[in-house]
Amino acid sequence: MGIDTLGVVGAGVMGSDIAYVAALAGKRVVICDVESTALDGARARVADLVARAQGRGRLDTAQAAALEARISTTTTDTDLAVCDLAIEAVSERIDLKRTIFARLDAILRPGALIASNTSGLSITELGEATSRPAEVLGIHFFNPAAVMRLVELIEGRQTSPAAMDAAEALVRELGKSPVRVRECPGFLVNRVLVRAMAEAYRHATTHGVTAAAVDAAVTEAGPAPMGPFALGDLIGLDTMDHIQRDLEHAYGERFTDAGAIAAQVAQGRLGRKNGRGFLEPDQGEPTVDAAARAAAERYYYGALDEALRCHDEDIAARADIDLAMQLGAGWATGPLAWADGVGAAGALEVMQELGASAGNRFHPTDLLRARAADGRSLVDDSDLDARTAAS
Ligand code: NAD
Repeated sequence: MGIDTLGVVGAGVMGSDIAYVAALAGKRVVICDVESTALDGARARVADLVARAQGRGRLDTAQAAALEARISTTTTDTDLAVCDLAIEAVSERIDLKRTIFARLDAILRPGALIASNTSGLSITELGEATSRPAEVLGIHFFNPAAVMRLVELIEGRQTSPAAMDAAEALVRELGKSPVRVRECPGFLVNRVLVRAMAEAYRHATTHGVTAAAVDAAVTEAGPAPMGPFALGDLIGLDTMDHIQRDLEHAYGERFTDAGAIAAQVAQGRLGRKNGRGFLEPDQGEPTVDAAARAAAERYYYGALDEALRCHDEDIAARADIDLAMQLGAGWATGPLAWADGVGAAGALEVMQELGASAGNRFHPTDLLRARAADGRSLVDDSDLDARTAAS
């Protein structure tokens, strides 16, 4: 099923960029919002992105005008009836999203897909608000969607393979890189990344290591482009607080950060957005000592442990886990390829030591044990996992 006309519900930060990306790829787009001022904002954002694309020589004047003409805006949701797929990008509230899904179900033709850009709410629950749960899925763009290549395609318990295939084809047409993810709390990138961050925060807090020293140790030791504290400050510590609490609630102790984020939020330190956070400005070069290196080790082994669990739980294919961390978190290599670089036997040894000293948070899976024994790559294509083989 081809998707020619896309509905975007919610004209905020994400909706505006998604509309631009779709129109850039030649799709017709209908943006719907309850606030006409939000629609004005979306048109202004699209005009800005178009002007930048023209500035880079990517669009000429006629193409720019045609792109903007492909986008219409409305406050009347029944105008979405022409859409082959509607993607919802309203605020992260399940009750609001379920109401919108029920409306979209009533408005869209049978067979049209209904997607959510949610960062972590249950796609299955959203599908249950409609009469077509097989046609409901998550299409999770990253911010800024006009720039970030990764899109996680989230498969709810009732999502059909045909819906996943159609969404994957669409995302490729939009020039993005789709990664299929079976629904789980945090989906893929946030789950792996926040686990790593929690490990580093926890070690730094309980061992009195400075944020700057841990960040320096992390960027020195492995593929992450910035340390966990700089990243938390960038995301915003109020946002991080919600994500960390949700994941700790879902997965338990291994997402505990020893109260590091909450302590910042309690002091009104929200990161870059208000200029105060984990990192203090002008502190000079940090000293990377053994304690900072130990926090960095927990960061990377936390990511590896969570990536192996995702493989074990059949959340995503191994190559996709690595690709998602590269495109979604900017890692030079994914956690599995990183462990290949260390050597699976060496990685297993460290994981066992961490398991012994840090409780059962670190859990060497069968895959790591097998690769430690046979010396083959953790991302070896010749040994397909169930998901890759099935798709
Ligand atoms: P936002 O607050 O910028 O925009 C939400 C928009 O939805 C607003 O314009 C609001 O008027 C509109 N809206 C509210 N109720 C509506 C209704 N009933 N019908 C139509 N429009 C309605 O939100 P955002 O940051 O773009 O986030 C949207 C979604 O994308 C959330 O689920 C969020 O978790 C997810 N997400 C956000 C980011 C990010 O960094 N901002 C990244 C990835 C995913």
